[in-house]
Amino acid sequence: MSPKSPHEALRQRSLKSVWHPCTQMKRHESLALVTIARAEGVWLYDGEGRRYLDAIGSWWVNLFGHANPRINAAIREQLDRLEHVMLAGFTHEPVVELSERLSKLVSNQLGHCFYASDGASATEIALKMSFHYWHNLGRPEKNHFVSLQNDYHGETLGALSVTDVALFKETYAPLLRPGSHVPTPDWRYASEGESPQEHALRAAAALEAHLAAHHAETAALILEPLIQGAAGMGMYHPDYLRRARELCDRYQVHLIADEIAVGFGRTGTLFACEQAGILPDFLCIGKGLTAGYLPLSVVMTTEEIYAAFYGDNPARAFLHSHTHSGNALACRAALATLDIFEQDGIIEANRGKARYLNQASTPLATHPQVRNFRNCGMIWAFEVETSDPSFPGKFFQAALRQELSLRPLGNTVYFMPPYVINEQEMDLLVAGTLAALDAW
Ligand SMILES: *Cc1c(COP(=O)(O)O)cnc(C)c1O
Repeated sequence: MSPKSPHEALRQRSLKSVWHPCTQMKRHESLALVTIARAEGVWLYDGEGRRYLDAIGSWWVNLFGHANPRINAAIREQLDRLEHVMLAGFTHEPVVELSERLSKLVSNQLGHCFYASDGASATEIALKMSFHYWHNLGRPEKNHFVSLQNDYHGETLGALSVTDVALFKETYAPLLRPGSHVPTPDWRYASEGESPQEHALRAAAALEAHLAAHHAETAALILEPLIQGAAGMGMYHPDYLRRARELCDRYQVHLIADEIAVGFGRTGTLFACEQAGILPDFLCIGKGLTAGYLPLSVVMTTEEIYAAFYGDNPARAFLHSHTHSGNALACRAALATLDIFEQDGIIEANRGKARYLNQASTPLATHPQVRNFRNCGMIWAFEVETSDPSFPGKFFQAALRQELSLRPLGNTVYFMPPYVINEQEMDLLVAGTLAALDAW
């Protein structure tokens, strides 16, 4: 027997000691883990002479490439001053500056920032704050939530209760508090001859009917604005958001916008809600907030909601905490991320990149196995016509052989590349995807 390579040894140690996320571990009896030794720009390097284009941004977080010199420098500089201090009773420059700058970016209406580490925690915070607001106003019966069919808001128990993805949810149903889901505006569900806008307005009518019947016991509507990510990048018309805002106002229900995946330019504007010209009562952000470097999430909310918690009675306060709330290193990474957006005119530059990738993708969009090729901002997606249930795993492997990291959601293949991707890399992405489509 030949001696094991160091990479094979690492794979085996990982399988013994690391329980990998979202994985049936037995699959790794036949599917080799990919060991990553280092990364730079859009490329992941495995140390065995292979590289992979990080076409889904390391689970939707990486914006400005790996080992970005400016973000690296900002974190290093912060590291020498203050890595972390608890945020109860203490504060520090990075968390204050980040809160001020985020508020300015969303027009100063959401001026109060509450920090956690992961997206699911941000969902929990928004749900609890919404309920607690109504409780403080003497309306404790407003304790139900409504979300969209196929929505995803994270996988802790509260977040899973407002999530509607059977694969993640079904097993845990007995642990969850049942919520309501209203029909999705996703245009893949449109009827024959119905435009995306007509379909969105029909879905909004269903929301109206739900709120008319249940507003008295409903605290909030939570939704993923414009794109339902985990549902397979389902895209919908912004008119749905405009109607949702009007209906929430009319029926005194909070609107929680979960921009954890779509925030920070993914839909073509800094935040997706901008495209509908609306502001939510709670804005949840995470993932791209630190350009993928460190876990950090925020819930931003209004003066009115903040004021309902303010007073002498401790029970009126939001007594919720996460140990690493407002971590200084993570906040510094987020500030460096905002600097890059501003200094490099990223939103505008991305428009040119999106035009290029759309044009380059013509052979994909017209491929005989491809359905519903679509793009919004810096997200591309399409369905592959097949009834083979092992498509996602097989396609993932075929893509790796083409130097691409692509991880389909069911039959949906999607691109969520770092914004630093250049034209040559976009060409490689399309050519590799075409080759994987023919080879899986
Ligand atoms: C990823 C995601 C979450 C959960 O974030 P985690 O950091 O994985 O907990 C919540 N909502 C949406 C829309 C997401 O895409």
